[in-house]
Amino acid sequence: MLEILQLPILKDNYVYLIHDPESGETAAVDPGLAQPVLDAISQKNWPLNYIFNTHHHWDHVDGNLELKQKTGCKIIAGQGDYNRIPGIDIGVNDNDTLSLGKHSIKIMATPGHTLHHIVYYFPGQQKLFCGDTLFVMGCGRLFEGSAEQMWQSLQKLKALPAATQIYCTHEYTQSNGQFALTVEPDNVQLQQKMRAVNQLRANHQPTVPSTIAQELTTNPFFREDSTSLQKTIGMINKTPVQIFAEIRRLKDNF
Ligand code: FE
Ligand code: ZN
Repeated sequence: MLEILQLPILKDNYVYLIHDPESGETAAVDPGLAQPVLDAISQKNWPLNYIFNTHHHWDHVDGNLELKQKTGCKIIAGQGDYNRIPGIDIGVNDNDTLSLGKHSIKIMATPGHTLHHIVYYFPGQQKLFCGDTLFVMGCGRLFEGSAEQMWQSLQKLKALPAATQIYCTHEYTQSNGQFALTVEPDNVQLQQKMRAVNQLRANHQPTVPSTIAQELTTNPFFREDSTSLQKTIGMINKTPVQIFAEIRRLKDNF
């Protein structure tokens, strides 16, 4: 079993520490700041062996150099981001395999939010570290990629086992859910999920991780095939990519 530590940083980011108790190996996912990671590993008495970056945005990489200098960790990121991720040691590509102790990690390329965005999937542990590609009831904005690319990326994540836990990098759940209700007001599971989310947030608790199963029933970006959603946004008889692009456009203006 892996131990996952969730560190809230900045306004609404999460950094994850992934620790394998057997080997002692530890990785930090998207450290936008160094100090919270340094504090956590010293408190836990863990080493820091790796940084796993999902993409080049500052709130995901700004802790890289200080952490590398203070711990000697190796920095892993998408090969395509080689020139724009500070301190990168190993560039990885779609379908590459890494490991943390005995646990294998599959790299999946998920262009859309940025062109070289990657996610880290632990098949044996059913955990997905998905950066800014998939959020709870949402997805990342299209800063570099096209709607078609992002839709393809989300199809890959949608196909993962339903029990897969989703560790995304932002706590955007509440506003994502408010938007989701505008495009699918009659979705009972969505209504239930929002009640649970509102309660968690009222108690200042995280709503992450979610699961693929929960996203399939509540995330509008996984639900372009819902007839009720298509009717609500006036997109009957359009292609899945056209419907996805329209949901994304509506969310950008929400
Ligand atoms: Fe980002
Ligand atoms: Zn981000």
